[in-house]
Formats: sequence, structure tokens, C-alpha cells
Amino acid sequence: MSRRLNRPQILAMCIVLTMPTSVICETKQQPIFDAHIHYSHDVWDAITPQDAIRRLRAAGIVRALVSSSSDEGTRKLYQADPELVIPELRPYRKRGTTDSWMHDKSIIPYLNQRLNSFRYVAIGEFHLQGEQANLPVVREVIKLASKHQLMLHVHSDVEAIELIYEQDPSAHILWAHAGFEDASTVVEMLDQHKNLWADLSFRWDIYTNNRFLPGWKTLLLTHPDRFMLGIDTYAPQRWLQIQSTMNWQRSLLKALPVHIAQAIAFENGNRVIYDRYMKLKRERD
Ligand SMILES: [Zn+2]
Repeated sequence: MSRRLNRPQILAMCIVLTMPTSVICETKQQPIFDAHIHYSHDVWDAITPQDAIRRLRAAGIVRALVSSSSDEGTRKLYQADPELVIPELRPYRKRGTTDSWMHDKSIIPYLNQRLNSFRYVAIGEFHLQGEQANLPVVREVIKLASKHQLMLHVHSDVEAIELIYEQDPSAHILWAHAGFEDASTVVEMLDQHKNLWADLSFRWDIYTNNRFLPGWKTLLLTHPDRFMLGIDTYAPQRWLQIQSTMNWQRSLLKALPVHIAQAIAFENGNRVIYDRYMKLKRERD
């Protein structure tokens, strides 16, 4: 990537450029890496892959970690825009299995079949609570991630994250919604586990009415390399809320120093997820 410019430098560049370019500079949005997109079966008819990509790009999303129930949705989006989509493999074949998937042994051959057919950067997002992380199916998933050098994208409480690290201390985990935990718990987890990152999808609570929830601004300022944004299109109606969700995300970014906003908006996802994906592709294709 080229030399990083801060906001005053960018504005200074815009001012000295010719008029048409300066207009582009002023209106150009911060590009976004979205770490939490789903394109699941019940949205395919209403929103085509091309339309879905158009909506993501219109919101300023230039790269996205995409998973779906079933995985076919991820393939559809990937084919529509392989520059934007970074595939992630979800252990769900249809909606409604978030509480039961960890008891379904047939998931392992399904994951194996997909992993042998396509390139992914992560397994997830999947849901876990506490000791469910020790169930045989989940243990197999953690082993598969390790074997294929994939990250795990986990929607869970603290206990499940700890149990995953007990099984595989070298696991690289993206913690969905930062576990919906408070700042003091998240800081403890990040300090304890150097290969743990968190997405801020659905964390309206941490920044509302132009104010951070206590502890959160300090957390983002002291751990700027550990957070990513995410729309989380978990249900069809979420595809209609992309712009409003992005408006909230951009208001949060504006409340942070520019270099930290850039890290959370794009650079962390690009470094941790996209670079890993490209490395895996180079090694295996
Ligand atoms: Zn999700």
C-alpha cells in the first residue's frame, strides 16, 4: 500500500489539485472493510447477487468477509464480485440451526467437501455458548481450521473463546460483536490473547447520541489494531438497512482520531483477513 496520509494532508492535496478532482476528493468516502456479511438462502430471490454487491459498494464497502447459509450464497456473491468478496465457510446449510449445529455430525463431511472445492479465509460465523465449545463437532471444526490455516469467526461468550484457546492456543479468532461484552471484559480478552480480534457489528450500545459507553473510547484508542466494522446482514431486512447502519458506523469513526478510524474502517480487516486470504490462495492455487 502507498504511503499513508492523514486527513489534513489529504485535504491539502485536494486543495492544490484541479477543480474536478478536488470535488471528487471532498466527496470521497473512507473505504470500508466489512467483516460481517451474510448472503443466506432467503434473500437470494429478493436481492440478486448483482444487487447485493451494488448495495455494498454504494455504502463504501470495498472488501467484505462473506458467509452464508448455505455456502452457495457466498459462491454467488463471490462470482458477482471476486474483488470485493472474501469467502468464509459457515457450518449452516439453512436458517435456524444456530442452536443445534454443534450436535450435527454431518456438518464435518459437508465442511470437508467445501474446503476441498473452494478457497476460504475462515470458518464462521458460528454460534456457541460456553461448554458447547468442547463438543466433538466443534472440536473437529477447530481442528479443520488449524489444518487449513483458517481463522474462526465466533459468536459466543467469553467461556467459549477460552475453551477454543485451550484446544488450540494458536487459533486466530474474530470475535463477532465483541461477544456483546462490556469494555473491561473485552480489554482483558484482547490483552490475554494476541490472536483475537473483534467485530463491532450490532454494537450500537457502545456509541449512541455522539457519546461512547464508558470504557469504549479508551479501548478503541489503546487497541486500535484489534477491531473491525460489520453490517451483519443476518436476515433479509438487514439488506435494506445497510445505509443507515453505515451512517452509524461512519459517525463512530468520525469521533475517533483519523489514523485510528482508518485502522478500524479498513486497515485491520485488510491486514488480518485479506492478506491472509491472498497468502492462502498463493500457496494453494
Ligand atoms: Zn452474523
